[in-house]
Amino acid sequence: MADMSTSSLGEILAGAAAQAAAMLDGRNLRLSPTGRVHAVGQVRWLGGVTAPGPLCHVGTASGPVAGIIPTDAPVSCARCLASRGIDPTGRQEPLPGLG
Ligand SMILES: [Zn+2]
Repeated sequence: MADMSTSSLGEILAGAAAQAAAMLDGRNLRLSPTGRVHAVGQVRWLGGVTAPGPLCHVGTASGPVAGIIPTDAPVSCARCLASRGIDPTGRQEPLPGLG
């Protein structure tokens, strides 16, 4: 029985996911310094690992998103707002308990 001491890819991804989750806790994210602000959702990676990413999944088709920038700015991505059930036109109140 070989006892491999190296981390598996899954462990590396899980570690990165945990780091990103801590970084984004209670915040929103940007994919570029001047880009739209996205809500944080869970994106599924290789091996069933999930990690924080844009709720609308923009830019995540080929895997985890690099260069996520945490921000406290309000979400400005209409797709993320729609995914949350919030009408981007502002006619619907945010769900209670999100604040
Ligand atoms: Zn978005």
